[in-house]
Amino acid sequence: MRCPFCKEDNDKVIDSRSAEGGKSIRRRRECLVCKRRYTTYERAEDAIKLAVIKRDGSRVPYDRGKMLEGIRQAAYKRPITAERLEQVVDEVEEWLVTRFEKEVSSQTIGERLATVLRRVDKVAYVRFASVYRQFEDVGDFIEEAQDVMQRAGDDVPGQQNLFEGTPEP
Ligand SMILES: [Zn+2]
Repeated sequence: MRCPFCKEDNDKVIDSRSAEGGKSIRRRRECLVCKRRYTTYERAEDAIKLAVIKRDGSRVPYDRGKMLEGIRQAAYKRPITAERLEQVVDEVEEWLVTRFEKEVSSQTIGERLATVLRRVDKVAYVRFASVYRQFEDVGDFIEEAQDVMQRAGDDVPGQQNLFEGTPEP
């Protein structure tokens, strides 16, 4: 971001928060050249310009559709509306844009999605978590699944069908 005072393009973000009820992101910045501070606003629909760092270190542009597709698969045959899935992604996006400006790891996105999804549907959460962790450790996955089922008690309908419809790894 070009400094409005000295016109140099070298700043750091001091603080980011959503404004106008999530419609824009307000960032407080400090110019690293002249040390003056200024505020910028970005419209929310323009804001997701993050580079996503994948596990192998490569970078890809942020893609909302991929996130949605990931949780849609996890929510297969679960009582979650398409609108609710969009809301999950909205919530994750708001979290992302107030914390990251240029890049974020795919792992961070995956963990945040899992956290939000957990509140929405426990079965979808376990499926999603298992996929994004790519079954790197099967023991971890089973532990996680048992943990969720224990805490959920009897209030998770269809928990015996946990593995039905789980996307192929
Ligand atoms: Zn400056």
